[in-house]
Amino acid sequence: MSRPRVVIIGAGFAGYRCARTLARITRDRADITLLNPTDYFLYLPLLPQVAAGVLEARRVTVSLPDTLRGVRLVLGGADGVDLDGRTVHYSDPEGGAGSLGYDRLVLAVGSVNKLLPVPGVAEHAHGFRGLPEALYLRDHVTRQVELAAAEDDPGRSAARCTFVVVGAGYTGTEVAAQMQMLTDRLVRRHPLPGGVRPRWMLLDVAPRVLPELDERLSRTADRVLRARGVEVRTGTSVKEATRDGVLLTDGESVASRTLVWCVGVRPDPLVETVGQPLERGRLIVDPYLQLPGRTDVFACGDAAAVPDLERPGEFTPMTAQHAWRQGRVAGENVAGSLGLGRRRRPYRHRDLGFAVDLGGVRAAANPFGVPLSGPAAGAVTRGYHLAALPGNRVRVAADWLLDALLPRQGVQLGLVRAWSVPLDTASPELARVPDGSQPSAQAGDEP
Ligand SMILES: Cc1cc2nc3c(=O)[nH]c(=O)nc-3n(C[C@H](O)[C@H](O)[C@H](O)COP(=O)(O)OP(=O)(O)OC[C@H]3O[C@@H](n4cnc5c(N)ncnc54)[C@H](O)[C@@H]3O)c2cc1C
Repeated sequence: MSRPRVVIIGAGFAGYRCARTLARITRDRADITLLNPTDYFLYLPLLPQVAAGVLEARRVTVSLPDTLRGVRLVLGGADGVDLDGRTVHYSDPEGGAGSLGYDRLVLAVGSVNKLLPVPGVAEHAHGFRGLPEALYLRDHVTRQVELAAAEDDPGRSAARCTFVVVGAGYTGTEVAAQMQMLTDRLVRRHPLPGGVRPRWMLLDVAPRVLPELDERLSRTADRVLRARGVEVRTGTSVKEATRDGVLLTDGESVASRTLVWCVGVRPDPLVETVGQPLERGRLIVDPYLQLPGRTDVFACGDAAAVPDLERPGEFTPMTAQHAWRQGRVAGENVAGSLGLGRRRRPYRHRDLGFAVDLGGVRAAANPFGVPLSGPAAGAVTRGYHLAALPGNRVRVAADWLLDALLPRQGVQLGLVRAWSVPLDTASPELARVPDGSQPSAQAGDEP
């Protein structure tokens, strides 16, 4: 008898764990294919440290071919799923097309930047969802400081060194915290005219930073950021963005060349095309992670609305912790549904707490509900990441040690240009370069 075919779309927290679990259980008795645009799993929570130059980019990647034995990697992005025909259609990174037939399908496509209809934002802001964005931001910020240092005009210099981050969830908060420390180091090497200091602003419409987390974490983060000079503006957002700055909702106009958009995420648009019931854009699944009425299709992670059995009536939040654990249950249940593993089980998980890295030795964390701040939280946060990383632990720890002992390298590599990291990551065609030619520079490109 031929081996059953399992296709997993997406190799993030949920898809990677699902593939790994399934391969371990089935031991070559199933044909497992993982469809993903990159050949690596990306550990997103450490991305702000890549932008700040604490970690080298490859440290937060884990090679799919090296770590997923018995799983076939297909490089590409799914364009559509034919549930009745049990086929996934995809495009490869060079514009070719293909299709994959399956007996079981796992949708684990994660989420993309959430766009809001604010004039100028799509053209002038940058998101923070992947390695290209992190590398672009590092170069861009370094360049602004270097150009500002050479400016004769203090006004232009101050504008270049004003950085606006919108969205004070964990992504925006960590980006502001890490990047503020980077610019502080950069200006020591490149003093700004007139003693100008880099200015970091962190905006959110919510009344506090980290609005979705425990209030005690918010208070710690707020205190640490303000002590470092970050302007935390709650109840405020951006009304309009231009090449030269932003207009805030409170009427203030801020001259700046940097707008980082961290207002949240929405499920990957592929899920809308599947034609199944959605809850706020996420695919509704049962506690076994199966689509209702479709015993051959599973979904997990940010893309799925999974009933939260610990909080009846609610769905699990979009976090790495849930995605990682759901991936395992999805793998077990797929194996079970093929008669290759144990009986299926429902997904149930209580949050173990959250850790927000605030740069240096500072963090805000509440492991098992115990609120921590300062170096204790910093140690717990780093320990948590080391334990959670599915690879590269020694390299990451070595980078942390080197960053503590040596001056950080502050050079631009210029590998990622503004046009190749559009805010609308849900439209990859925006970033595609036809025939090797470069798209015309957008207004957001640097001079
Ligand atoms: C900067 C940042 C920091 C974060 N920090 C934390 C944190 O500290 N703690 C926490 O709990 N959560 C954190 N999160 C959120 C967490 O990373 C997500 O909840 C988690 O990644 C969701 O996992 P996932 O597997 O559903 O999706 P993802 O990890 O996003 O993976 C989705 C995968 O699917 C691929 N994909 C997408 N579309 C297609 C397609 N059409 N075809 C094929 N493949 C596709 C993507 O390329 C990606 O590889 C952070 C997020 C960001 C951006």
